[in-house]
Amino acid sequence: MSDKTPETRSDGVEAGAPSDFIRDIIREDIATGKYGGRVHTRFPPEPNGHLHIGHARSICLNFGVAQEFGGKCNLRFDDTNPSKEEVEYVEAIQEDVRWLGFDWDDRLSFASDYFEQLYAFAEQLILKGKAYVCDLSPDEVREYRGTLTEPGRNSPYRDRSIEENLDLFRRMRAGEFPEGSRTLRAKIDMASPNIVMRDPVLYRIMKAPHHRTGDTWVIYPLYDFTHCLCDSLEGITHSLCTLEFENNRALYDWILDTLELYHPQQIEFAWLLLTYTVLSKRRLRQLVEGGYVSGWDDPRMPTLAGLRRRGYTPESIRTLCSLANVSRAISVVDIGLLEHCIRQDLNQRAPRVMGVLRPLKVIIDNYPEGQVEYLEAINNPEDPSAGTRQVPFSRELYIEQEDFREEPPPKYYRLAPGREVRLRYAYFITCTGVERDPNSGEIVALHCTYDPATRGGDAPDGRRPKATLHWVSAPHAVQAEVRLYDRLYTVPDPLDREGDFKDYLNPHSLEVLTDARVEPGLADAPVGARYQFERQGYFCVDPDSTPERRVFNLTVPLRDTWAKIERAQQQKGR
Ligand code: ATP
Ligand code: MG
Repeated sequence: MSDKTPETRSDGVEAGAPSDFIRDIIREDIATGKYGGRVHTRFPPEPNGHLHIGHARSICLNFGVAQEFGGKCNLRFDDTNPSKEEVEYVEAIQEDVRWLGFDWDDRLSFASDYFEQLYAFAEQLILKGKAYVCDLSPDEVREYRGTLTEPGRNSPYRDRSIEENLDLFRRMRAGEFPEGSRTLRAKIDMASPNIVMRDPVLYRIMKAPHHRTGDTWVIYPLYDFTHCLCDSLEGITHSLCTLEFENNRALYDWILDTLELYHPQQIEFAWLLLTYTVLSKRRLRQLVEGGYVSGWDDPRMPTLAGLRRRGYTPESIRTLCSLANVSRAISVVDIGLLEHCIRQDLNQRAPRVMGVLRPLKVIIDNYPEGQVEYLEAINNPEDPSAGTRQVPFSRELYIEQEDFREEPPPKYYRLAPGREVRLRYAYFITCTGVERDPNSGEIVALHCTYDPATRGGDAPDGRRPKATLHWVSAPHAVQAEVRLYDRLYTVPDPLDREGDFKDYLNPHSLEVLTDARVEPGLADAPVGARYQFERQGYFCVDPDSTPERRVFNLTVPLRDTWAKIERAQQQKGR
C-alpha cells in the first residue's frame, strides 16, 4: 500500500504531494535518467461510449502525473474498431476531459492517424518471419488456441513463406478477400502459458467505413498491435492502464522488441470501482438503450455527463480520485465517499436559499393583509464574501409538509398545534389551528400567529424555540419541479449477485415533485447553477429548465438526522 501525503519523507518527496506506486516508479526513472528524465503519458479512450467516473481516475492519473513532473499528456482516441465507434462520442469525451480540468494542448491524436505506419510495421513483421496470414475462421482460431490448462495447436497456415504472406497481406488490404476469411497473426508460441502470446491476431478484414478514414481501409489493426506502436510513435514514457491488460504487457513488449522500436513502459493499476455503481460502458449502454435511464447524461448515471448534470463539480471528482489512492490492489470505494466529496465542496461554495419541496400553506392571522417585508438572509455562512440577500415575507407562506405534525411523536420539535417555532431569518410563529378540506378531511392550511418582537429570529426575552423552519412567501415564491434522486441500485454490488445487474435497479431512484416552491431569487437561475436548499440538500438547475418551468436536480441531500431518529424509533418499536 502506498504512503499518502506524509509530513516528511526520507526520499525527499514534498510533503502533501500525491504519492503512489506509479509516482514512485516515475521518480525512480527520472532519477536514473531512463527516457532522459522525460515524462510523457496518454489517456487512450475508445470512442464507443461516454466517459464514466472510472475513466476520471485514469484521466486524473495520466494528466496529473504529467503536470506534477513537468511532462506532457496526450489525448489519443483508440479508434481501431469502425463498427462500434461514433463521432458523437469523440466530441463528448473531449468536453468531459476539459470539464474535469485537463488540457492536451495540441496533443490530440487518433490511432487511425497511424494506420499507414501500422500497416508498414505489419509488413516488417512479415519480412522478419514474425507474422503470417492465417485462413482459419474466427471460430477455428479460437478452437486452436487451447485453454488455460492445454496448449494451443499451430495453425496449418503458420509456415507460409514470407513471399506468400506478403502477397496475401497486400491482397487483404486491396479488398480481395471476404470479411472473416483471413487474418494476420503474430508468430510467437502456441504453447505459451500466457494465452495472449499464442499467435495473436494483429489485423482482421472488416468492410466497414471508419469515422475518420472512410473507405480507405478494409483491414483494421487490433488493439494490442495498435496501442504499443502508437505509444512508441508518440514517445510515450509511461503507458498507464488498468489491470485487465496485465497479460497483454508481454505482447506489448514483444511487438516493440521484435520491431526494434523505442519502448515505453506499460504499468497496470487497479480500477476505480464504487459501491451501488456499475461502470462498464457496455452495461451503461444497456441502461440507455433499454430506456432504464433517460440517456448517457441521466443524473443517476455514473458518467461524467450524468454527474455534471446531477450537480457534481469537477473538483469533487478530482478529490475523490486523489482520496481513493492509485494502487495495484482491487478495492471498491464506498459511494458515500463521493457524496462526502461533493458535500464538502458545495458547503464551501453553494449559496444557501430556501426551497419548499412539498408545500403546506401557512396563514399568519395577525399579520397585516397586503403587507410585505424584506428580511435579510445570509448567502453562505462559510463564505462571508457571498454577502446577504433580501427575502420577502408576507401573510401567507409555505412550509414543508413534514415540518408539521398534528400529533407530534416524542422528540419531534417542529410545528404542531399550540407550539412555537422559529422561521429562519423571520419571526417566531405559533400554530393556532388547521384548515381541512371539507370532503377529504386533509389538512390544506395551518393558521398561525406571529410575534412581531421576534423579527430576524430572536426574542427579546431570550426564549428559544427548539426548531427553525425554512419557508417561502406564498405570493412571491416560484413554482418549480424538483427531481429527487436516489441510488440507482438497491444493493452495493449488483454485478456480484445472481441474475442480471439490471434486476437490482432501484425502482425509487427518481421521484419527481412538480409543485415545489422556491425563493423568487431563483426565477432566473442559469442552467447548472448550484444551491443549498436549507435543511434539504444541494440542488442544481437542470438543462430542462425553462423560464416557465424551473427544474432542479437533487445533487446530494444534507445528512438527515430526523430520518435517522425516526428509523431508530421504528426499530425500537418493532
Ligand atoms: P469500460 O471497461 O467501462 O467499457 P474501457 O476500458 O473499455 O471502459 P476505454 O475507453 O478503453 O474504456 O478506457 C480508457 C482508459 O480508461 C483505459 O486506459 C482504461 O484502462 C481506463 N479505465 C476504464 N475504466 C476504468 C476504471 N474503472 N478505473 C480506472 N481506469 C479505467
Ligand atoms: Mg474495457
